[in-house]
Amino acid sequence: MIINDNRLTIHEAHKLLKAKELSSVELTRATLERIHNLEPKVHAFVTVTDELALKQAQKADQLIATGGANPLTGIPVLIKDNMCTKGILTTCASKMLENFVPPYDATVVERLSERGAVIIGKSNMDEFAMGSSTENSALFTTHNPWDLSRVPGGSSGGSAAAVAAGETIYALGSDTGGSIRQPASFCGVTGLKPTYGRVSRYGLVAFASSLDQIGPLTQDVTDCALVLNAIAGYDSRDSTSAPQPPPDYTRCLSGDIKGLKIGVPKEYFVEGIQPEVAAAIRAATAKLEELGASVDWEVSLAHTPYALAVYYIIAPSEASANLARYDGVKYGFSYEAGSMWEDLEKTREYGFGAEVKRRIMIGTYALSAGYYDAYYLKAQKVRTLIRREFDQAFTKYDALVTPISPTVPFKIGEKIDNPLQMYLSDVCTIPVNIAGLPAISIPAGFADGLPIGMQIIGKPFAEETILKIAHAYEQATDWHKRRPGI
Ligand code: GLN
Repeated sequence: MIINDNRLTIHEAHKLLKAKELSSVELTRATLERIHNLEPKVHAFVTVTDELALKQAQKADQLIATGGANPLTGIPVLIKDNMCTKGILTTCASKMLENFVPPYDATVVERLSERGAVIIGKSNMDEFAMGSSTENSALFTTHNPWDLSRVPGGSSGGSAAAVAAGETIYALGSDTGGSIRQPASFCGVTGLKPTYGRVSRYGLVAFASSLDQIGPLTQDVTDCALVLNAIAGYDSRDSTSAPQPPPDYTRCLSGDIKGLKIGVPKEYFVEGIQPEVAAAIRAATAKLEELGASVDWEVSLAHTPYALAVYYIIAPSEASANLARYDGVKYGFSYEAGSMWEDLEKTREYGFGAEVKRRIMIGTYALSAGYYDAYYLKAQKVRTLIRREFDQAFTKYDALVTPISPTVPFKIGEKIDNPLQMYLSDVCTIPVNIAGLPAISIPAGFADGLPIGMQIIGKPFAEETILKIAHAYEQATDWHKRRPGI
């Protein structure tokens, strides 16, 4: 039965709810049951909000009964644990926030709630979103539903794993350097990082504010458009929020990509890329050509190789400033023993994990007097070059197609002792954040039974173009319909 297997998409569930063939309470109960059955294996949830979810489901059923339903009403959603949820624990998978219960909702959560969404819990992640595997969570590691000995990617690994395992119908994640797209790729689901400024960051616990962006993790492209419709748009509480009104993102899903110009930048087929990954992305691009797009296979974006280095100066610099607020006084964990300074030092010593401390140290070093010009300022200049190179490419192409990750999901423990190896997981996703562009990851093949994701990058605010291309590809293939046999 579909509900017990809980593999309904948002648009399928919406139809059943509207036709009163299914109630939100039934759907929510079935989802919670599945969560409780699978969590001992997957470990995607930091918090399951059973009671609250059932209450919201009852309310949603009333809304549906009075004809007030919209596409998200009554449908379960999982929220990454770095987005504030009023009255619900929000840990960022850090000891520092292990007991933090926000007094307000993030704008995205507020927007979903206004639409009658049912929040079923908060998902595991790398501590403060720093990582590519969820192994940096101070709580526990999430397992990939396709192979439990492997990582689900990160930092939104809990959100991606739960969507893949059918523990939720969709989820929200955040993406600073690839944290929506890389776990989406590793778990065989769809993940969108919107243009910087398209979705409000209000209530998102800040990691690197000039790069962070919230977006959906879903089972298909139509669902992705539906969620973006709900969360996109201006918010006066986020000063970087874009004023232009978002379109209806479902309208571009026509399947017609004839005449669209697609570029394939060769620098993304990095040295050491797994041959099956490169082959799958080339085959997927050939499919787009078959569907009527014109493809240029010989594009060069020469500054691409510098993006990783730029990111690992800018992101830690912003993180070191953002994380200065955790002093044991205002939020969460507080060490109390001696003098004020001792308490502050010990709070940060015990409250933060190794990766977070590493980033704070790199960031404070890069920003310190004498080094600022050599590192931070230089990185900002190269950032501008990378952005200009994309601008230039987009005068010729409507979209760029690349792999998401050079490899399929790796084994738990394989890279955790080698931070630089781990950082390399994001070579293909990071340039997009550096330039503030929108990009989507969609399933595009398998190697050894493990999913491979294709990245489609668009011009600023051209989410419609990349959704259109992704949707056309999805209609012509069935990768997105495959599910892990968990
Ligand atoms: N893996 C990258 C990092 O560790 C990106 C994380 C993210 O997008 N939040 O910083």
